Parts: sequence; C-alpha cells; structure tokens
Amino acid sequence: MDGARDWQAYAAGLKPDGRAWIGGQRVPPGPGGVFDCISPIDGRKIAEISRGQATDIDQAVVGARRAFAEGRWANRSPRERKQVLLRLAELVRIHADELAALETLDMGKPVALSRAVDVMSAAQCLAWYGEALDKRYDEIAPTPRTALALVTREPIGVVGAIVPWNYPLLMTSWKVAPALAAGNSVVLKPSEKAALTALRLAELACEAGLPEHVFNVVPGLGPEAGQALALHPDVDCLAFTGSTRTGKQIVQFAGQSNLKRVYTELGGKSPFLVLDDADVEAAARACAGAIFFNQGESCNAPSRAVVHARVLEDFTARVAELAQSYQPGDPWTRGTVMGAVVDRIQLDTVLRYIAAGRQEGARLVTGGARVREDTGGFYVQPTVFGAVRSDMTIAREEIFGPVLSILPATDVAHAVALANDTPYGLAASVWSRDLDRALTVARALRAGTVHVNSYDEDDITVPFGGYKDSGTGRDKSLHAFDKYTELKTTWIRLPAGIAP
Ligand code: NDP
Repeated sequence: MDGARDWQAYAAGLKPDGRAWIGGQRVPPGPGGVFDCISPIDGRKIAEISRGQATDIDQAVVGARRAFAEGRWANRSPRERKQVLLRLAELVRIHADELAALETLDMGKPVALSRAVDVMSAAQCLAWYGEALDKRYDEIAPTPRTALALVTREPIGVVGAIVPWNYPLLMTSWKVAPALAAGNSVVLKPSEKAALTALRLAELACEAGLPEHVFNVVPGLGPEAGQALALHPDVDCLAFTGSTRTGKQIVQFAGQSNLKRVYTELGGKSPFLVLDDADVEAAARACAGAIFFNQGESCNAPSRAVVHARVLEDFTARVAELAQSYQPGDPWTRGTVMGAVVDRIQLDTVLRYIAAGRQEGARLVTGGARVREDTGGFYVQPTVFGAVRSDMTIAREEIFGPVLSILPATDVAHAVALANDTPYGLAASVWSRDLDRALTVARALRAGTVHVNSYDEDDITVPFGGYKDSGTGRDKSLHAFDKYTELKTTWIRLPAGIAP
C-alpha cells in the first residue's frame, strides 16, 4: 500500500478475530469467555479476545503432541519444510498491510514502522530459518575405529512459547520460525495486550501448508493461559520473552512440573557509553533514535546514557534537541515516528517513573508529560533526565517507555563501573574514535550484545539475548536451533580387525 493512502480507513474496514487457533481452525471461546481488546491509539474497543484457560491449553498441547508423534511435520523432508516456511514468509509479505494495520491498532506504534520493521523483519526471519534448515549437518565423533558415533540433533517435541506485546509479530516469529524449522509442534500464548497478529500468522501458516495442530495460538491472560502452558507436563520446552519478574516464575513452573527446558529473554537497562573522544553528534542521534523508537518499549533500549564529563553538556543538549523530533503523533499518519504506549497501565507506569525521577532529584531536561489526551489514547512525550545517579529508581528499573536517564562519568573506569552497575545485561554501546579503547571497554561490559559506535544495528544472523537478569536464552541466528533440538548420540559398534 502507498504510504499516502488512508490507513485509518483501511484499518477501520478490518474485522480483527480474537478467537484461538487450535488444530488448524478458529475455535469459539471456551469456559473463560472473552475480554475486550482496546486500541491504545484512541482507547476504543477493537475486538474480543478469547480468554484461554488450562483446558484450552491442554487441547492445543494434546493436538500438538499427536501431530509430533505421528511425524506429520517432523518427518517431512527438510526440503518440504523449507518450502512451507518460504511460502509463509511470502504470505506475510503479501498480507503486509493487513498485518501492519493490526499491529498498529493493537499496540499503538506508527503503521509505517509496523510495516517496514515488524512485518518485513518477521517475513525475513521466517524465510531465513526456512533457508537454513536444509543446510545444517550433524556430526560424527572422533571415536576409536571400533565404533561409529553419530551426534545428531532431533526436534525436541512440543514447544511452548510465551511472548510480550512490544513487537508481537516479530517476537512470535523469532520463536516460531526456528522451532518449526527444527520440526517441532508449537503452542504459543501471545500477550493479552496484543494477540491479533500472532493469531493471523497461525492462519497464514496453515494456508502455507503447515499441517493442522503443528502451530497453535491460544490467547489469554498470563496467570491463566500462560501459567497453564508453563506448567503443562507434556510441553518439552518453554521459550519465554517478557519481564524478568515473570521469567523467574516461568523457571519455577518448569521445576514444579516436568523440568521442561526453559529459555528466557528478559528485560534490560542497557547502558550507552559516550567517551570523551566520541563523535558526540552521531552518538546523540543514535541514542535518541534507539530510546524513542517503538515509544521506548524495546527490551534493548539504551535507557541509561553514561557520558564522560567533558562531553556531557554537548551530548545532553543534542539529545534534548533531537527529542523534539520524536513527539508522538497519530500512528496512521505518514511521518509519525512515535505512537501510543500500549495501554493505560503502561502509561501510568511511565508517568510514575517520571515522577520518581523528579522526586529523587534528577533534572528533567525535556518532556515528562502525557500528550494528545483528547484522542482518548495513551501518548507520552520523549523525556530526558540529566544528573541521574546510579542509585535512583530511573537508573535501576526498566521503565519501558520513552525516558532516557543521563549519568555523568568522571573517566572511562567510572563509566564502565556505572554501565555494569545493574542487574541486567541485555545490550550496551560504547562510543569512541579510538577503536582500541572502544574494544577494551566493549570487553569489560557484561551484556549479550555490545555495539561499537552504533546502536540497534543487527540482523537475523546474530544471536540476541542477555547476561544476568536479562535471561538465559538466545533468539535469532543458527544458535536458536540449539534451543529447539535435543542432542542425541548413536553409538554403533564396528567389527575390529578386518583388514582393508
Ligand atoms: P510480562 O512478563 O508481563 O509478559 C510477557 C508474557 O508473559 C505475556 O504473554 C504475559 O501474558 C505472560 N505472562 C504474564 N504472567 C505470566 C504468568 N504468571 N505465567 C505465564 N505467563 C505469564 O512482560 P510484558 O508483556 O510486559 O513485556 C515487556 C517485557 O518484555 C520487558 O521487560 C521487556 O524488556 C521484555 N522483552 C524482552 C525481550 C528480549 O528479547 N530479551 C524482547 C522484548 C521484550 P499477559 O500479557 O497476558 O500478561
């Protein structure tokens, strides 16, 4: 669709379907009934979503197990599985406008970004794992000549996936693409705040030729459907993306049930280090672009800028000026770069953190208020705090909104100490014109991804995940296959002493 077209009218014509997708079809709401799906753009109801319960999860898991045991998908040749995933990627591209509009309606980001980033990256992810799956080889171990030991990877079985609302389609794809590519069956629980695109993706997967019961989506609330999936005794692996608080619960649920493998991709409080020899203008541009992108609702957002005293004033002034160009606007309008935060709860959370920053003595440089209230939606100004200390709430806790905290550092060692002074370890960035210096600092940073003179530049070829409280798993890249496969040794005794 042309960017100048009337997206709002297009979205108004959509009829979002919030019913679960189980066994290759939409199923009517079960005993839990439905709940309302409210658009953060204007506070209006856009759909009813099935409130999945343990019985719905069980129905999906039983079907997924049967499909796996019968080898409906797992036993298809790699080439056939590849073709289905490539077809699904193509269907995502064909339905890009619809998926983008659903994503924007559901969680408030600008539709141009939903389409260009979320939908296109999801399609690329599906295609990449489709392409990768028939190019992986297993191993033969270096055993004595009296044995042949095969080390093979087999699909793990039934994969449970639980995803958040900030990149609903993309997070779904990061889990589902490698899990399906490896031959598993999947039961996914999307966030109650944004379930529509995951449900639509499951429909498209069936259209692409995925057998029934291989990819199921059961929407519902975290403590109901999510918990039932994490506790289910017949789920072999649980891939979770969400907050650290819920991640810790998920690990416990695995221990209370069948010790399913659990992979967690959790929150962050990522540092952005600007050293005294940095290109301050480029650093400010990258920092503003990354912290205000997606309304600040990115797990790897650089929410703590740690800035050398010598460039502090310059950096702060530039970021504050750049913040003006990220003012929230109508997500349907061309040129809008920041939309609405996902719901009223998230709006209140962000405003509470802003109030805490002021109360604890940080300097509000710009922003700090709700805007566009007349629309009925949930919009927050891009906000920058200066003079932030590492012990302040806004420096320690993940805000998940467009709020940047700037922490002054006296020298490089101090900057590194501040950067690592966090329970999180998802991402980090260091800016310096001296590459030796930048790499030395990069080595000292405890984070799953460290950017040097950049931020947010990555793609499907590299792993994504965190150290410490940011989780235990890695999405993306060939490494994701490890999560969704079992390692098997087949030891074959060979006769000794036969002359060649
Ligand atoms: P939550 O932890 O609140 O929710 C994540 C998912 O878990 C949702 O589907 C939620 O359902 C579900 N859930 C909630 N409670 C339970 C429970 N008791 N048992 C099982 N499932 C449950 O996180 P948010 O949705 O608020 O997402 C934001 C968080 O995700 C941030 O911390 C962010 O940093 C992190 N994130 C991490 C990424 C990474 O790759 N490391 C990427 C993207 C986000 P429901 O929505 O219905 O409550």
